Amino acid sequence: MEVIIDMNLSKLVADLKASPNFKMPNPEQALLFLTSEVGEAADALSSTWNGYVRSEEHNALCQPEVRLKVAAELADVVIMASVAMAALGVNPDEALQKKFTELVERFS
Ligand SMILES: [Mg+2]
Repeated sequence: MEVIIDMNLSKLVADLKASPNFKMPNPEQALLFLTSEVGEAADALSSTWNGYVRSEEHNALCQPEVRLKVAAELADVVIMASVAMAALGVNPDEALQKKFTELVERFS
């Protein structure tokens, strides 16, 4: 079963590239930025764990603002993954559609 991605990541990346203040990274830079965004998402989530040095105990994952922060960082991950693919000359929509299709077939 083919999975259809109803989102146009290629267009969104093209719009980003066309933004006057956006500097398109090369593939290596894009992968480093992607790694940084994964770290930010992990940091936003791990700050909700009680009892660790980095914890902010007032932040519980059930709090809407914390969930929004984690979601925003995960959105940054998707954006940088799309930029990294575009920098490599890969269409992110086609790459995602292919992988989702493989996953659906694998778990069907
Ligand atoms: Mg971020």
